[in-house]
Amino acid sequence: MAMFDLNETQKQLFDMAKDFANKEVWPKAKELDETAKFPLDLLKKTHELGMLNAFVPEEVGGLGLGTFDHCLISEALAMGSAGFCTAALANDLAAVPVILSENKVVWKEFLAPMVNECLMASYCVTEPGAGSDVAGIKTTAKKVKDKYVINGSKMWITNANYASWFFVLAKTDTKAGHKGMTGFIVPAKTPGVTVGKKEENMGQRCSDTRAVTFDNVEVPEKYLLGKEGDGFKLAMGAFDRTRPAVAAEAVGLAQRAMMCAIDYAKHRSAFGKPIGDNQGVGFIIAEMARDIEASRLLVWKSACEVDAGRKNTYYASIAKMFAADACMRITTDAVQIFGGYGYNKEYPVEMLMRDAKIFQIYEGTSQIQRMIVSRTLLGN
Ligand SMILES: Cc1cc2nc3c(=O)[nH]c(=O)nc-3n(C[C@H](O)[C@H](O)[C@H](O)COP(=O)(O)OP(=O)(O)OC[C@H]3O[C@@H](n4cnc5c(N)ncnc54)[C@H](O)[C@@H]3O)c2cc1C
Repeated sequence: MAMFDLNETQKQLFDMAKDFANKEVWPKAKELDETAKFPLDLLKKTHELGMLNAFVPEEVGGLGLGTFDHCLISEALAMGSAGFCTAALANDLAAVPVILSENKVVWKEFLAPMVNECLMASYCVTEPGAGSDVAGIKTTAKKVKDKYVINGSKMWITNANYASWFFVLAKTDTKAGHKGMTGFIVPAKTPGVTVGKKEENMGQRCSDTRAVTFDNVEVPEKYLLGKEGDGFKLAMGAFDRTRPAVAAEAVGLAQRAMMCAIDYAKHRSAFGKPIGDNQGVGFIIAEMARDIEASRLLVWKSACEVDAGRKNTYYASIAKMFAADACMRITTDAVQIFGGYGYNKEYPVEMLMRDAKIFQIYEGTSQIQRMIVSRTLLGN
């Protein structure tokens, strides 16, 4: 029989995360948006509560949390602030390829310290000239004796200025397409690494996004993940675990937008009655609830598949595209329910609408998710 109930531990985890998001994060969301200040204090508290870097394997002292539990945390944290949640999730995005590589030397050196300390990390794949088309990256890693020398530029790297290390995808064989790509760990302080200015983004403004350049950056051979040519598989394989979490983040943000819309619809009067008493407004809210429930079930399905050890790329793409598109629709509708006030910065929903847009872009655009799903179904 299929079960939709959380067990007691999961309920406690979800409740603790929601409580933290509601009491400590949501009251600061507006300020984080206005100042675009990186939420280091909140991330430290998240770490103290055991909800940051919780994916670190038990073998090196971590909680080794599964994707399902991780999605519960993501949904809850995003109810507080999506930008803050993205900063937390970027750590997972950086770490999953490392976990998949099974390089235990690197686990000990880079993942283990994340258990006791609130350390951040970044996933460096996208470049100025290549995002969706990952095989089009230009960064190279050349073997020189027992080292690799990395050269190239990465763009839109989340957490870049706060990361203690980077997962970097580079080409060790420029003629072999995606089979010539290799993943490396690069400590952020390595000579030749330069982090650019903070990008001024439309939404999720407290999340830190920057360019990172690698100019003759030398890394020891032991920082190679897997073997030469494994990089594309590791970088893309990470999405099977992180796309469900990003979709869960979209659910949390959509949930917050619906809560704001319901509250407003109950208290704002027009024509002598609360606007929510009009079917035209009530139906918008009903459709918000429908899409949130459906998104959450898709998140849970995609997370359960990967936790059960099954290939979930198809479900992860379905969950991400559905939840991202639903979140964009729901936050736009929340602005509509607020009327003129929705368009104004004094009220929270315009921020939620701006925050939602990135879900249709990062970790594979909504078009790329459709491409993955259609190719799976059509068999090409
Ligand atoms: C705030 C933010 C944070 C990010 N964080 C990270 C990070 O931490 N690490 C990282 O590596 N990257 C990160 N990214 C990069 C992000 O993943 C890319 O922006 C995204 O994958 C799209 O790539 P692109 O911007 O080059 O767009 P392009 O690939 O140039 O695409 C442009 C448009 O064309 C469409 N398109 C492209 N190819 C196809 C196709 N075959 N069929 C149909 N449509 C297509 C796309 O869907 C899109 O609408 C981040 C981006 C942002 C904005």
